[in-house]
Formats: sequence, C-alpha cells, structure tokens
Amino acid sequence: MSFRDFIEQLRSTERLVEVTDPVSGAYEAPRLAKQTGAPVLFHDVDGHKAIMNLLGSREELASMLDVPKDGIIEKLSGLHPDGQVIIVDRSPTMDVIETNVDLSSLPIMTHFEKDGGPYITAGIVVSEYEGMMNASIHRLMVVGKDKLAARLVPPRHSYILHKKAAAQGRTLPVAVVIGADPAVTFASTTRVPPGKEFEYAASLRGAPVELFECDNGVKVPHAEIVLEGYIDPLERVDEGPFVDITGTYDLVRREPVIHITRIMHRRDPIYHGILPAGPEHLLMMGVPYEPRIYNAVSEVTTVKNVILTQGGCCYLHAVIQIEKQTEGDGKNAIMAAFAAHTSLKHVVVVDDDIDIFNMDDVEFAIATRVKGDLDIMIIPGVRGSSLDPRGAEDGTTTKVGIDATKVLAEAETFERAQMPDRTMGV
Ligand code: MN
Repeated sequence: MSFRDFIEQLRSTERLVEVTDPVSGAYEAPRLAKQTGAPVLFHDVDGHKAIMNLLGSREELASMLDVPKDGIIEKLSGLHPDGQVIIVDRSPTMDVIETNVDLSSLPIMTHFEKDGGPYITAGIVVSEYEGMMNASIHRLMVVGKDKLAARLVPPRHSYILHKKAAAQGRTLPVAVVIGADPAVTFASTTRVPPGKEFEYAASLRGAPVELFECDNGVKVPHAEIVLEGYIDPLERVDEGPFVDITGTYDLVRREPVIHITRIMHRRDPIYHGILPAGPEHLLMMGVPYEPRIYNAVSEVTTVKNVILTQGGCCYLHAVIQIEKQTEGDGKNAIMAAFAAHTSLKHVVVVDDDIDIFNMDDVEFAIATRVKGDLDIMIIPGVRGSSLDPRGAEDGTTTKVGIDATKVLAEAETFERAQMPDRTMGV
C-alpha cells in the first residue's frame, strides 16, 4: 500500500479531515492538527500539501495493520523481520528531481514557541555504510537551505554508522524518506535486528517492500519525497530546543549535519508531519514496545493484552491484562514488564474483565482490588528513561508496580454484577 492509498482509505471511510484554506507551516498547521485530533490533510500549507495525525490513534493503526483494535498486540507479537525486499529500477518518487536544493520548497513546520527552528518530524533516515544499512526516524532541524541538524541518539544504529564512518574520516551517505507506506514508517520506529527494517515492514504488510537506489547508493522505499545527501564526519551544530514525548523541551545538543544534495518527489507531493508529543508521535514511540512486554509477560503467566497508555506518554505507563492462573502472577507480570521495557516507570496489572482501553475501568480495578501494603511494589535505584523529567541525574528512577488483580481465593467477592439480556418473566 502506498502513502496515498492509505490516505484514500482514510478518506473513503470518512476519517479524514480536509483543510482547503491556506495555512502557515509556522505554528498554524500544527495547532490545527492538535485541535482536530483526527487525520488531517492540509491542501495548502504555504502552497504545499501536508498530512498530520496519519497514524494518530489506535483505530488508524489497526486499520493500517488490517486487524481490530484489540488485535494489534497479537499481530505484532508474532511477527518476525523476514518479509521480502525487492530492488526495482523505477519509482514514482523519481517523477520530479531537483538538484538546486532549497528546503523551503517543502512545508516543513515549526511547532512550538521555543523550538530551535522548523523540524522535519516524519523523516525516515536511511543510511548505508560498509554493507550495513539502517532506517529510523530522527528529528531533523532545518539549519540552512540544504542543511539539517540530525538528533542521532546513541547507541541507535544511525548513530553507530555515522560514528564508524566519521572515525575513518568519511561521509555517511543518507536518504531522508518522507511519506512512505505507513507500514514502512511504523517498521522504522520498531527496534529490529540491524538492517532488518524493510524486511519487518514487508512482514507487517504481508507483501514485498520495493526499494530503488538513489544516486548515492542508498536504497529507499517508494515515497512522496526523498532527500538525498550525506552526513559530514566532523561538522556539528546546535540542535534544539525541541519538544519530546512528554510535551516538555528537550535540551540543545551539538549534533551532526546532513547536507542535502538532491530532492526527489512525486508530482504534487504530500508532506508528512508528525506533531511532537501528539498522539501519532506517542503511538510510534510506544506501540512497538507493547509486543516486547507482551512476550515477556507471556513467559510468566497468561497475558491477554498490553498497552502503553497515552496519559503515560505511551512510554512510561503500562497496563497489562492477564488471566491470572496462580496467586502472585500479578507481581511476576510486573517484574517481567520492567525487564522488557527499561523506560517503563509505573505499571498496573489487571484481570481480563477490565477494559484496558478505558482508564475509568483501570482505576476501578485499582480502587476495588488493591491493598496498598500488599499489592504495590516499589523498586528504587533502577535505570529509567532519559525522557522522564523526574528522572535522577544518574539515570536511575523508582519503579512502581500495582497488582490490581483479584485475590483468586475470593473470586466471588469481586464478581461484577451483570445485567441479563432477557426481560423479567411475567
Ligand atoms: Mn536499526
């Protein structure tokens, strides 16, 4: 499926909001995307098309994966990065090729008041070095008409490839892919074995992923826009401030620079922007970890579902639903979850009669099934998330697990009253 096919699917199922009035990419489009909350296609952002909130809810994600909402975890947890990747000669992405690079020809948005500048937020950075490739999304700040500052987080694969090339005094060839099949975008946010992002995307899609080769040798999937270039071995500039998943400003750091040498795009391209700290950003960060937690918990008890909640920035809070088999399963599930996702800070374990998509229901489980001194585990001095504003200087935090499952021996006490379908006989 192409990016456009997916947008068409959103349109035909009446889930797409369309804005035809001209809007500015500086604050206005991001603000409207935040207010709308749904997938929104702007027909005129400073003269160009752009979409935001593309995978901005679990409903959109489920439709992309072709499963019901509560089936996302089952699909992802059983998936291996072993799909087929095919190299092709032609791509609609090559329809228009610009060698006189000017990034202001794209509707790159500025999102928040104190942001360091306009940022590309949905750019999949594909890099290749000595036979190794990587594809992952990095935030990219515009620092010149043909230059981007790339936040390469250590020890991610792009960071490692750049470090290897730089140690040999070499540039790292890269391509920034914007507006690929959403399965490719999702795959590039998933931590798969080195170089397996496109194989994983093909597994997700259940169909081969086609790649074509850029002038600099980097092989990329079909997309709306591809920026071709290289990362300089030495050059660094200030990157930031920028808003991360918690909605707070991340620090300014000295980061590497991508020089763009060529822009390719489809005719009338649709730019993809991810709203920082918006639901699409949170889901792309968090959902790939849910199957890891699910698989780890399945080693200790019968797990039904796992979500990283939106209120917990899809990163710091999990709710785990289990079918409790023996007393103590809740606490074993808590330990397994913390081991599987080291950034996790608070976790609640519930029974399978609790709707884990409904936070009122989760709170009900905490209210009626928890005794604080027995059911809450507090684990201080554990490695936490660098994104947690309340984390300690040394990177440690305190983890809290809440076992909100019923006491098995007292099951009747916890029975939730049901209303029968039938009416009372007269
Ligand atoms: Mn990788």
